[in-house]
Amino acid sequence: MPDVKQYIKFPDYEASGFIMNEMKVLLQFCAFTLGFSNSLCNKLYEKANGRQVLVTLLSNLYGYSRGQVRLQSANPHDPPLMITDSFSNDLDLDNFVDHIVDYLKVEETKAFKNLSVTMVDLTTPRCDAFKKGSRGYWRCYSLCMMASLGHYGGTCAMGSVVDSRLRVRHVKRLRVADASVMPTLVAGNICSTVIMIGEKVSDFIIEDAGPYNDVEHEQISQDQIKNLPNTFA
Ligand SMILES: Cc1cc2nc3c(=O)[nH]c(=O)nc-3n(C[C@H](O)[C@H](O)[C@H](O)COP(=O)(O)OP(=O)(O)OC[C@H]3O[C@@H](n4cnc5c(N)ncnc54)[C@H](O)[C@@H]3O)c2cc1C
Repeated sequence: MPDVKQYIKFPDYEASGFIMNEMKVLLQFCAFTLGFSNSLCNKLYEKANGRQVLVTLLSNLYGYSRGQVRLQSANPHDPPLMITDSFSNDLDLDNFVDHIVDYLKVEETKAFKNLSVTMVDLTTPRCDAFKKGSRGYWRCYSLCMMASLGHYGGTCAMGSVVDSRLRVRHVKRLRVADASVMPTLVAGNICSTVIMIGEKVSDFIIEDAGPYNDVEHEQISQDQIKNLPNTFA
């Protein structure tokens, strides 16, 4: 993957804050939306019960780690293996530390201090070996507290698997139109881009089925040439 960071003129992480007053909403968010373990969510409940909680999600907008989707057997009924491999590229973990350190400046603001805000640390005892606030500690923290926002893509990347009209290369009459065709992810939430891809493929299908269908005609004429008897070729 190209090193895009040097070209980035935009923020490289996004902070989304959710104020939670109700513990049942907080627990639901912890266990279902973020998929954290029961023991971690119970710990959060113990620390947060009776208080107002600000849950902040820091999203890395330019990830370098790549996962894999693989067949787990020759049986077509077996589901594929989804290997997300988050943090397989160390740059991501390193960048996360930068994001956390940058975001923590918010805690130092007068507005936050006036509210007597304290950070709830749920990493004990796993990160106890690291000096609090050190880069090693925040790396450990990131590994303990990471969750996915479900923004996966790239498994049928345009260029390698599908062409620019979303046709699967070397396969006739098959297109793919979903998040998998993005060669790299867009920065931020991807749903609107996925919807745009769906809109675009409907344009392609209509165009390719229409009377001025250069692309399909080109393919058909190439096929015809290939199938001509030798004497005509
Ligand atoms: C919990 C969660 C929260 C999210 N929140 C946001 C958000 O707030 N904003 C945002 O932008 N993005 C969000 N996303 C990401 C976004 O929803 C996805 O990136 C997007 O929906 C991906 O679209 P897709 O078309 O590639 O796949 P999907 O939306 O997953 O669509 C795949 C479709 O294929 C169908 N399907 C699967 N197998 C078969 C089969 N064998 N035969 C026929 N059909 C099949 C499924 O039923 C499904 O309808 C979230 C994702 C998750 C998981």
